[in-house]
Amino acid sequence: MPVYSRTQLRRLHRRLGIPADYEARRQIPWQRVAVRLVSIGRAADDGRPVRLTPRAATAWRAMQKAAAADGIRLLPLSGYRSVARQAAIIRAKLAAGKTVTAILRLVAAPGHSEHHTGRALDIGSPSNLRLEAGFARTREFRWLFAHARKFGFRLSYPRKNRHGIGYEPWHWCWHH
Ligand SMILES: [Zn+2]
Repeated sequence: MPVYSRTQLRRLHRRLGIPADYEARRQIPWQRVAVRLVSIGRAADDGRPVRLTPRAATAWRAMQKAAAADGIRLLPLSGYRSVARQAAIIRAKLAAGKTVTAILRLVAAPGHSEHHTGRALDIGSPSNLRLEAGFARTREFRWLFAHARKFGFRLSYPRKNRHGIGYEPWHWCWHH
């Protein structure tokens, strides 16, 4: 994985119009980019390969299997994401006319996304693949809320989180 220095990240942020005090103000830490990744299959929505670190992948498989035993289908939507891909997501939103302030309420700045670590996973359900707050009303979310912690997965952005990121019931991060 290409590793960005702090200087390169600062330059990238400047180009995207991300304020220099982003990290300090939002308390969204810089994230280490994954070194080793394994595939956990393809995204249920767009078919792109979903990758996690080996240990996060093992935890995910155990959790998915336990859920299946309870009749719950957890579907992976997005795992590892590169810094370049995060920047491309922000550029696309800027090109669509959104302000950087509005974008940064929904998307972490490049270098600061938990998806860089290969431990974060966006999860959908057969009835909801849309990465929206409505996922919180699914039985899959209720199952995750009750059981994910046992497998090391935590909800990173609950309602009214201190980072000023919107509620993301689909986004879970594995912590060893
Ligand atoms: Zn996510």
